Amino acid sequence: MQSRLAKLLTAVATATILIAVPAQAQQSCTGAPGHVQSPVEIDRSQNCGAATPAITISYGYADGQMQFRDKNLNGVVDNHDDVSFVPDQLSDPHIMYGTTKYELTEVHYHFDAEHKFQGQAAAPAEAHFVHKDASGDTVVLGVLIDGVGVPASDAHDHPLNGVPDTLGASWSIGSVNLAGMLPAGKASFRYSGSLTSSPYTPVHWVVFNDHAEATASTIAQVKAPFGAAGNNRGRQNVAPRIHPGNP
Ligand SMILES: [Zn+2]
Repeated sequence: MQSRLAKLLTAVATATILIAVPAQAQQSCTGAPGHVQSPVEIDRSQNCGAATPAITISYGYADGQMQFRDKNLNGVVDNHDDVSFVPDQLSDPHIMYGTTKYELTEVHYHFDAEHKFQGQAAAPAEAHFVHKDASGDTVVLGVLIDGVGVPASDAHDHPLNGVPDTLGASWSIGSVNLAGMLPAGKASFRYSGSLTSSPYTPVHWVVFNDHAEATASTIAQVKAPFGAAGNNRGRQNVAPRIHPGNP
């Protein structure tokens, strides 16, 4: 028989958290193409404003599969490979992007971060929360991750701790705290870009202004098989139209 505390903890662990990420509006940037290749360096001063869709994130805890993915299927660790979490759909992790539902299909990691804010050092890691709607249209939430001694939350350490250095490995994981992986502040910058690996198809990017945290030694351990260069695409030399989304 479950104790009251155990029941309470279960209730907390399974609760889905709704997080509003509303947007502001206007569209006055000129000279930049509507859709660019990603990742990019984001210049906060180049806000266009925008009529961007409101976003509500609906994340709880999820069980699923971790993978050290050999994306090229070539048996060699290279910068196209990644470490990913694929949630089962029982907890229905998703976002509403405007009035359209986009399911969370995976969370994967890049070392070092791909996006960067002008005037700030590049973060040592970035998590990409990939969402797709019924038509295959893609929204990715980008979370820059700082490496610290003791992170405010173990949400990223939980899936990253003990990742084997065996390319192609996969393993089950429980109770991944998806909401806890997001930064505390939900202000974001949005632009129309692309996937940062093949097939480089269009993506609605939402890059959070604030960073999340993970243990620095854990980041270093997961990055190690990729070598010093890590698994990231270089920043593309085109300034996007950037739109703010502030809570
Ligand atoms: Zn990515």
